[in-house]
Amino acid sequence: MFDSLSDRLGSALKDLRGKGRLSDADIDRTCREIRLALLEADVSLPVVRGFIAKVKERAKGAEVSGALNPAQQVVKIVNDELVGILGGETRRIEYAKKPPTVIMLAGLQGAGKTTLAGKLGNWLKKQGHQPLLVACDLQRPGAVSQLQIVGERAGVKVFAPDPGTSIGQTGELGTVSSGDPVAVARDGVAEATAQHYDVVVIDTAGRLGIDEELMRQASDIREATEPDEVLFVVDAMIGQDAVSTAEAFQDGVGFTGVVLTKLDGDARGGAALSVREVTGRPIMFASSGEKLDDFDVFHPDRMASRILGMGDVLSLIEQAEQHWDAQQAEAAAAKITQGELTLEDFLDQMLMIRKMGPIGNILGMLPGAGQMKDALSQVDDKQLDRVQAIIRGMTPAERDNPKIINASRRLRIANGSGVTVSEVNQLVDRFFEARKMMAQMSGRMGMGVGGGRKN
Ligand code: GDP
Repeated sequence: MFDSLSDRLGSALKDLRGKGRLSDADIDRTCREIRLALLEADVSLPVVRGFIAKVKERAKGAEVSGALNPAQQVVKIVNDELVGILGGETRRIEYAKKPPTVIMLAGLQGAGKTTLAGKLGNWLKKQGHQPLLVACDLQRPGAVSQLQIVGERAGVKVFAPDPGTSIGQTGELGTVSSGDPVAVARDGVAEATAQHYDVVVIDTAGRLGIDEELMRQASDIREATEPDEVLFVVDAMIGQDAVSTAEAFQDGVGFTGVVLTKLDGDARGGAALSVREVTGRPIMFASSGEKLDDFDVFHPDRMASRILGMGDVLSLIEQAEQHWDAQQAEAAAAKITQGELTLEDFLDQMLMIRKMGPIGNILGMLPGAGQMKDALSQVDDKQLDRVQAIIRGMTPAERDNPKIINASRRLRIANGSGVTVSEVNQLVDRFFEARKMMAQMSGRMGMGVGGGRKN
């Protein structure tokens, strides 16, 4: 759903890559592109304005972070703010202390409420609950039988008025009142209490547009059943109407959380992303298809990184921030430039990188790593363990000046670290080669002390 937004954001941020320093003009230009990307995706204007203002302010005053280059810092800021507008923490259902927990669904006709009731029932059951679905949409022809069908598919009981029964008659599941959705809702909750269902999901009627009667009916059901959660269900494909509908429901009925449906559609969907910011209510679930399983808890952080399309890079950034020792890295960079890197420095750097996790994972997280899979599969932690063992088998003088490592020292190191002499030879030879190459490269690229990492 957010593919084109992802593409646009990705290209806005890509332009920053490789820049050692970002000017205010760079940040302004990037923010302009991000702004356009968000507006084009239908994110509402006030939300975009607030978002851009925050990103700009933080990017310009960005704390110098040793671990991240400026472009990465901007990616991180955009990601943080995106998580922010999507609600920050994942919001989970608040279950009643005394069951049953009552969850009421509200929204326009066609939003996907009935389908959602089935999905929610299915999900609740998998979570170990015993849900009861209550059919209070007595307006839309076929809504009751539709709920019965999805309930059956999910293996979840449905409380519904029998067609043709009048108030007070007995249906399959206890006393059912037909015709009056408020009474059906109330009876449904009573049935759940009596039969020890611990969660009740109430499906309510929608309309094609906002109207007063709809709001009144939903409010009456809310009053009669005192739900623990009222979920506003909104079709992510309806564009800016999603925001105005949400505001109307918030005023007319009030809700505790939002469910986005039809995220599998190809519409822009940004309006739905504005709902949280506009109503202050969290997005709790997302629905992305017609099947029972096309449904999940909404995680703002995962959605943000999906939209940015940089999930893996972001976790790499986070790990780097946690483990990177900027001073040590800068000192090593200075030595590389001067061709003075020692095996001790090399070991320190290696240990720092390895703190971020298994080496295959780290390399795998780098953009473009997909194509390098074969090459990467040859780098493994065992190999690095041996390199570490060899360097540790050396005396401080040898690590400091590997040139003194002659044949007899190589034999001692090999014996001490449990490897063959040829492995020690290989390591020492490769180290010299690499040191020479790095010094040449950093000279050519004009990489000074702390090359490219400082603002
Ligand atoms: P209600 O009027 O709010 O109860 O809406 P329905 O549950 O009847 O859904 C309206 C239509 O949207 C139905 O055809 C559903 O199959 C479809 N639908 C519901 N949720 C999704 C979804 O997440 N993705 C897609 N593609 N279709 C959905």
